[in-house]
Amino acid sequence: MSDSSSGQSDRQDYEFQKVIEELEDYRGSGTQLVTIYIPDDTQVSEVVAHVTQEHSEAANIKSKQTRTNVQDALKSIKDRLRYYDTYPPENGLVLFSGAVDAGGGRSDMITRVLESPPDPIQSFRYHCDSEFLTEPLESMLEDKGLFGLIVLDRREANVGWLRGKRIDPVKSATSLVPGKQRKGGQSAQRFARLRLEAIDNFYQEVAGMADELFVPKRGEIDGILVGGPSPTKDDFLSGDYLHHELQDLVLGKFDVSYTDESGLSELVDAAEDVLDEYEVLQDKQVMEQFFKELHDGELATYGFGPTRQNLNMGAVEQLLISEDLRQEVASYTCPNGHDTYAMLDPNADASDAVCNSCGAAIDEPDERTDAIDHLMELAEERGTETVFVSTDFEKGDQLLSAFGGVAGILRYDTGI
Ligand SMILES: [Zn+2]
Repeated sequence: MSDSSSGQSDRQDYEFQKVIEELEDYRGSGTQLVTIYIPDDTQVSEVVAHVTQEHSEAANIKSKQTRTNVQDALKSIKDRLRYYDTYPPENGLVLFSGAVDAGGGRSDMITRVLESPPDPIQSFRYHCDSEFLTEPLESMLEDKGLFGLIVLDRREANVGWLRGKRIDPVKSATSLVPGKQRKGGQSAQRFARLRLEAIDNFYQEVAGMADELFVPKRGEIDGILVGGPSPTKDDFLSGDYLHHELQDLVLGKFDVSYTDESGLSELVDAAEDVLDEYEVLQDKQVMEQFFKELHDGELATYGFGPTRQNLNMGAVEQLLISEDLRQEVASYTCPNGHDTYAMLDPNADASDAVCNSCGAAIDEPDERTDAIDHLMELAEERGTETVFVSTDFEKGDQLLSAFGGVAGILRYDTGI
């Protein structure tokens, strides 16, 4: 969620996104592209041993070309692993290496290393295929957010977290609620009362578990999902058991048939639509505010040039960047010493620009950098929050199509 993550981690996510987009497109002519996911509690020496083993087994590959390519990839990975001490950096390490098709029957050897992904790598994976394995990293970058999960029936309850797409079961409880059959000799009335008391106690216990886990994190939680059979979950929610601040965070209740740990996954599946909507909602709110300022206020800026100028003055409160912006920024110095910046397509010719200040012709740019990198760096220097806006809704799409993918909400009117 854009508003809960810092600019730094947004930026890091973007760096990962770029590498993933590059890697996704690569193909090997055989099963020769190697991907290794290493959790941060796996010793690097174990990984080196594993890679050495794979290298010797690769000697059995029939195709000489594939054999050579796999062995080269493994050697390159081993070389990279030398840079690390006992353990990989926090959250782990992902290595990609292999000979990728470069067209015309040629291939290029490429190796990429990604350190400290947004979520911890859960288990060691060695993968050799005609494509790189990017899916686990992609899912870390998608649907980011923190949600509290509660599943319960009258017998059992589980609470846990949904972080991005990862489910962490944390606590569970089982109840002493008697079954519906009463024992002989017990009065029906007394039995019913004891049963209700036991249910009440159990709901209190579940709420206590949820409070303990979620209340300290209530500032960071994007929502709480509650699952179970009817009417248990309804009684639990309407009965005022949860801490009142948590009640406000409940995004919805869902029918699930299991209330053990697998019930937590069932709950997340059942809530899929709500989770998708919620993610877009964050972006929608910021775009609504932008359009409101554009029509009725003075605090909207848009387009690369004006937004960059405002950003540079420290006047931008929130920088809005389309998630699908794939442009470069060319920086020029004119013969009279003025600096000029232009945003352009990565494949476009950057020569023949004109100085914004004096109109002098400029030949070649001094530098071309990725537009998002360029803007985010300025934003970080000026204490501006960067919000990445998806194109999955109309106003988000307009940010890209009508405003060049770059806009801002200002702290004050600058007249630019
Ligand atoms: Zn000039």
